[in-house]
Amino acid sequence: MSVAIKLEDLSLGYGSDLAVSKVDASIDDGSLTAIIGPNGAGKSTLVKGIAGILTPVEGKISIFGERNECLAYLPQQSEIDRSFPICVSNLVAMGLWSQIGAFGALGKKDLARIAEALAAVGLTGFERRSIDTLSGGQFQRVLFARMLLQDANLILLDEPFSAIDLKTMADLIQIILGWHREGRTVAVVLHDHEMVKAHFPDTFMIASFLIRRLMS
Ligand code: ADP
Ligand code: MG
Repeated sequence: MSVAIKLEDLSLGYGSDLAVSKVDASIDDGSLTAIIGPNGAGKSTLVKGIAGILTPVEGKISIFGERNECLAYLPQQSEIDRSFPICVSNLVAMGLWSQIGAFGALGKKDLARIAEALAAVGLTGFERRSIDTLSGGQFQRVLFARMLLQDANLILLDEPFSAIDLKTMADLIQIILGWHREGRTVAVVLHDHEMVKAHFPDTFMIASFLIRRLMS
């Protein structure tokens, strides 16, 4: 199996503080990986590094394969500003940016794809709702609809189920499993060990400057 992401002697941090130190690891193409570890272990920092938001202090992050260059990244909910005045339909349409350009007009086909993505996350009829009126679970569904349209081959999700109702969690895990079945590479930061055991073939554990590959 070919490698999608390779981390070599990787250290990441903020100013002079290291949050991730000397990590060597790889994630295979088409794998479904849970990234687990205690609070503050550096899970979000690691995912931001892979997403290209943080530059390594030391070491190297390599993303292989042309199809993996344009990855999808979902930050932790706490890091997302929901006060921006935008309706559900327009937020989901951002998933099409790489295909039609930021200022491209949406055609009939695009509108149909937006409707299809909203239907897939159970939000038909929410098109014109402002995002600040949604519950946490509904908002997460909208972000998943946007990722469905983004159609990325490499998908990174940071605690997608924290503060989310059980029904939403059950629906969204099915979308993640669908991405895995389609052969995409998916890595998800999680803290629910039952979910990890039930659905995730690969696990990375990151714990205070250590990352270890576990077999499950
Ligand atoms: P996790 O996601 O595993 O809970 P994080 O990657 O968020 O851990 O944080 C790892 C360490 O980096 C923690 O000590 C945290 O306080 C620190 N940290 C995270 N974000 C920042 C930031 N923007 N500025 C400074 N330190 C940060
Ligand atoms: Mg985190």
